[in-house]
Amino acid sequence: MSRYFSERYAGLEPYVPGEQPRDRKYIKLNTNESPFPPSPLVERAVAEESRLLQLYSDPDCRKLREKMSEVFGVSQDRIIMTNGSDEVLQFAFMAFGDREHPFAFADITYGFYPVFARLNHIPYEEIPLKEGFFVDPQDYMGIGKNIVIANPNAPTGLCLPLASIEEIVKSNPDNVVIVDEAYVDFGGESAIGLVERYDNLLVAGTFSKSRSMAGARLGFGFGNEGLIADLNRIRYSTNPYNVNRLTAAAGIAALTENEYYMHKCQVIQANRQWTAGRLEELGFHVLPSKANFLFVSSERIEGAVLYRALRERGILVRHFDQERVRGYNRITIGTMEEMKALVHAIEDIFAD
Ligand code: PMP
Repeated sequence: MSRYFSERYAGLEPYVPGEQPRDRKYIKLNTNESPFPPSPLVERAVAEESRLLQLYSDPDCRKLREKMSEVFGVSQDRIIMTNGSDEVLQFAFMAFGDREHPFAFADITYGFYPVFARLNHIPYEEIPLKEGFFVDPQDYMGIGKNIVIANPNAPTGLCLPLASIEEIVKSNPDNVVIVDEAYVDFGGESAIGLVERYDNLLVAGTFSKSRSMAGARLGFGFGNEGLIADLNRIRYSTNPYNVNRLTAAAGIAALTENEYYMHKCQVIQANRQWTAGRLEELGFHVLPSKANFLFVSSERIEGAVLYRALRERGILVRHFDQERVRGYNRITIGTMEEMKALVHAIEDIFAD
């Protein structure tokens, strides 16, 4: 920290992204990216759009929101497009949180939530997951705080049914409930359909996982017009051109070929099932995941030891050095070939 750094952020502990190493080629199962490339139309759309890079992007993302509206069946004034879903989450913390409006979220969930809270000087409560890493909806009923729930949750992969999400939204009418659906396309139930009925519900989503666009940074929020207007107020006060031209064009093309992506999500789910089965045969405890990753532990090996042994064998997974989950690793679901390599590597580690 230089001597110029603001006191306001002196206590900040930044989010630590999963590693993106350059030292050798790894099978990357550590940041929940898609193993599949974008659809062919995306490449063409980006190449074409690049001829217009001298012009600013459309701050209202009109064409993209039009396409979003078509695909998701939500009216355009209930949609905001952002630079990854991290940005819509950050906007939501800024817009809805302050000393009188604290946030609540699970003790084991997406690591960015506490960072956003601290960055914006918002008090927060971490609600412990129940034994087995379950979210108990009762813990969130009428709590008088803004709530953010990743559904499916990360890094566990566990998912709440839509009825529970609705109960939580219904019981907190004076607070905003953010449902972070980064992983919903891998088997979860989306709350998008509830946005029409509840003016305190914000659903966040991303093109990073199910739509193979992590590198393009495209996220979105669905909510009542009032909430979306609030988020746009923040957006226009920070960066109105938050979605660049190439990304917007890629997003439109991806939505045009939505079936391609939804098919790939099926493939990921099949690969997940196969991997879970093999790991269970090897004695792993595998949480029932509805996401594009598995959260696994084994009595035979410590979490950090498995992480390092896999790394030595050219496979990256994610280990969180945090109480309650130290014994676990989060493994992104890749292609079948990558999953077989993972299982072989683990067999090899156990044979040592
Ligand atoms: N929410 C959750 C639960 C995530 O795991 C991630 C991925 N790191 C994000 C949001 C943000 O993803 P992105 O900014 O790439 O949309």
